Amino acid sequence: MKIEILGCSGGIGPGLKTTTFLIDDTLLLDAGTGVELLTMERMLNIRDVVITHAHLDHIIGLPLMLATIFDQHRYPINIYAHPEVITVLEEHIFNWTMWPDYTRLPENNPIIRMHPVDVGEVLKIQNKAIEVLPAEHPTPTVGYLISDELNSFAFTGDTGTNDQLWPLLNQRKPDLLIIDVSFTDESDELARLSGHLTPSQLTSQLTQLEHNPRITVTHLKPGMEESIMQQCLRLLPHRQIDRLQQGEVITLN
Ligand SMILES: [Zn+2]
Ligand SMILES: [Zn+2]
Repeated sequence: MKIEILGCSGGIGPGLKTTTFLIDDTLLLDAGTGVELLTMERMLNIRDVVITHAHLDHIIGLPLMLATIFDQHRYPINIYAHPEVITVLEEHIFNWTMWPDYTRLPENNPIIRMHPVDVGEVLKIQNKAIEVLPAEHPTPTVGYLISDELNSFAFTGDTGTNDQLWPLLNQRKPDLLIIDVSFTDESDELARLSGHLTPSQLTSQLTQLEHNPRITVTHLKPGMEESIMQQCLRLLPHRQIDRLQQGEVITLN
């Protein structure tokens, strides 16, 4: 399985894109500003889009991509998200005021089809099994565990402390964990209020994880990246932990 990290920042700035992962060229996991890095041809290859939640940094690329490929798309794109996220997309994005309603365009063969998903479900998409994981965030949010015949990885989505997650990961034992650590320990209260983790909170959460996968931290706030990583490395010397990098292509095999 090939995972291209098109965006993994907690904000924007020169060279910084927000959460967007492209898997095996055809499956998009979140659609932040990283979608901007795709050529027309690569956008047209996307068949399925799996969304963790409706915050703008995870969806803003979707309406813009649809408008870009609209004239040339050959196949409808399937959008998978929590039912409340689909409602947000329909009421607040694809509502003709913010953006055209692509759930109805073109009339005879709309460019997107919405598929509601909920925690505990296992979707079969292309050659993958995608299990919907719980997350803790101020808006309905999920994570995903994505597996092919050989490998798997878990993406927490945006999440704070989430004790429901670890028993599941202990059963599934993913090869890679991509986890939200947006803030330094100095911003503990802000992290709790906004539903993200700090290095110390991550450390406390990882005491519940029984195996030793590669752990990559994502969604770091611009300007705080070095401090967050120093704190993670100091607190977790026995873990394989590093920072998810935009432009990185992770191959699991
Ligand atoms: Zn969020
Ligand atoms: Zn976010």
